[in-house]
Amino acid sequence: MIIVLSKTISAHDKEMVRIYLKDRGFNIREQVFGEEEIIGALGKGIVDTRELGLLPGVERIAATSKPYELASRETQSEDTIVTVGGASVSPVKIGGSRITVIAGPCAVESKEQIRETAELVRESGAVILRGGAYKPRTSPYAFQGLGVKGLEFMKEAGESLNMPIVTEIVSPELVDVMKDLTDMFQIGARNMQNFELLKKVGSIGKPVLLKRGAANTIEEWLMSAEYLLASGTKDVVLCERGIRTFETYTRNTLDISAIPVVKGLSHLPVIVDPSHAVGIRAKVSPAGLAAIAAGADGLTVEVHPKPDAALSDGPQSLYPEQFERLMRDIEALAPVVGKELLRTPLRRHPATFTPFIQRKTERTEEVEKITFCGESGAFAEQALVRVFGDDAPRLPVTSFKAVFDAVLDGSAGAGVAPVENSLAGSVHENYDLFLRYPDIAIVGEVKLRITHCLIADEKSDIESIAVVRSHPQGFAQCQDFLAKHPQWQLETFNNTAEAVASIAREGALKVAAIASEAAAKSFGLKVLKVGVETNPLNYTRFVVISRRVGDKASAPPSLGSGAPNKASLVFSVNDEPGALFTCLQILSGRGINLSKLESRPIHGRPWEYLFYVDVSLPKDADIFDTVVGELKAKAKDFHFLGTYRAAI
Ligand code: PEP
Ligand code: MN
Repeated sequence: MIIVLSKTISAHDKEMVRIYLKDRGFNIREQVFGEEEIIGALGKGIVDTRELGLLPGVERIAATSKPYELASRETQSEDTIVTVGGASVSPVKIGGSRITVIAGPCAVESKEQIRETAELVRESGAVILRGGAYKPRTSPYAFQGLGVKGLEFMKEAGESLNMPIVTEIVSPELVDVMKDLTDMFQIGARNMQNFELLKKVGSIGKPVLLKRGAANTIEEWLMSAEYLLASGTKDVVLCERGIRTFETYTRNTLDISAIPVVKGLSHLPVIVDPSHAVGIRAKVSPAGLAAIAAGADGLTVEVHPKPDAALSDGPQSLYPEQFERLMRDIEALAPVVGKELLRTPLRRHPATFTPFIQRKTERTEEVEKITFCGESGAFAEQALVRVFGDDAPRLPVTSFKAVFDAVLDGSAGAGVAPVENSLAGSVHENYDLFLRYPDIAIVGEVKLRITHCLIADEKSDIESIAVVRSHPQGFAQCQDFLAKHPQWQLETFNNTAEAVASIAREGALKVAAIASEAAAKSFGLKVLKVGVETNPLNYTRFVVISRRVGDKASAPPSLGSGAPNKASLVFSVNDEPGALFTCLQILSGRGINLSKLESRPIHGRPWEYLFYVDVSLPKDADIFDTVVGELKAKAKDFHFLGTYRAAI
């Protein structure tokens, strides 16, 4: 049951409604849906709805349409983000804009086997370790698992590699022995409707991975999630792992359509287990990629160092090389679905990462902010979240120059700025700023898929629009769509989200903005049309910038997973034959690959040009130092913008 509160309800009356519901046996959840504030009354309370409707400040009462209430999107519109670990290992999140991959063997077989598998999957980017110590096997003669010993081996492997672990629990009696040995409980397909087990596991409060039973409907699956939530835990992750159909070629049939269906019905994260779904090693990766494309928040994958010798599920376990390839493919696919693959904390956040988000400012206890140009929902903010996470404190500013200023004067620890779009080309303003701010360097890069929307007030429709507002990049990326409406007058704004904000502020009708769906949501406006960019393969490259440290010539250490593999340089050349050729020859002579070369007029020096160059870094850092030395000697106006990890 949902109680919609009146907009003018006083704090006292709201408290009276809460007390009224709690006294009658309800659990309550408070939510804001757009302009409406609601209280969800959950559980088996008894109430006279007419009496409740008469309480001051109650506008109306609506029944929830689903039998599961805590798991339903009607009760909570925002996605739940589940945190696993955090006590003896770094916490890992599942849900939101990230793709989280769990990997490990079907069963823990020995101390060495779980340790070796953990090292391998972690190296490829898995962030949570899986492994069964109690195995629910179809045959009583098959390997049943190592029990507590297996759990101890897995906990030790997880802790030494800083990975939380997830393992299956098969009986309520095991809760007490298992609860301190695992970071997350798994309820297996065979136990999805073991309600006593669900109640006991839910009461511990730890995160639970709930697999869908092989012959269960989506509604039954969500009812089992409801059991867990009603018993005490808030952190449930749903896992689709294939269902029984008439098809026998694969072990089960992966129900891909369940992913978008469940995402619509529930706020809980949904991951997919392609290993048990298809049961055939060669089909696991394609099924896993399909799940990501369909909107899954992650995967759980069986990997074994020697699958042919595995004690259980060898035929569906990936070889480590296959898993590594799958992870690379997921990383490349992620931007297409607007997400980023979450990497192992130690790789993603090397020691060098700490200066930006965990360093406390000298004056206060506050964590340093990351700055971006725009308002809430700006594409730059989405890029920021990809790199620094949802919790990163932010400093929105109103121009690209202000981003550089904030980083330079220390009001932000780092900043995010767009440098190039795949349809509209370079963002020259930012390139020019690098030359004016020699103390700022590039330390990271992120590639974001850009889907533009036409956004307007609730009361506007596309026929009534006369004016369209956006950043010039927004217009450039939507040229074909705008060409179909030549009568529209275009108004330029500093960034796309600000264009949306202006419509909300003015309550302007007949005016639309081109910006992200997130910006429309932030300002409570309506999306008139989604996907108005000229080509859906529309990506923007953002760079992360930071102040240089120590030696002015060298940039701060880079962000990202792994060692830096890319550098950005800017230089001009003398006006003589072969001058550019000589500089490029220095690079090619050392086998250095060029990924970008662009010329730009130099302000105030007509017909002279600067060359913007991106290169792949050679493995040997000394070679690159030599190259930089030689380029400095040959080129004019040499600027070294920084080394960083290239986005895929
Ligand atoms: C497992 O993950 O090891 C397992 C047994 O899976 P399921 O319960 O999906 O069969
Ligand atoms: Mn298995």
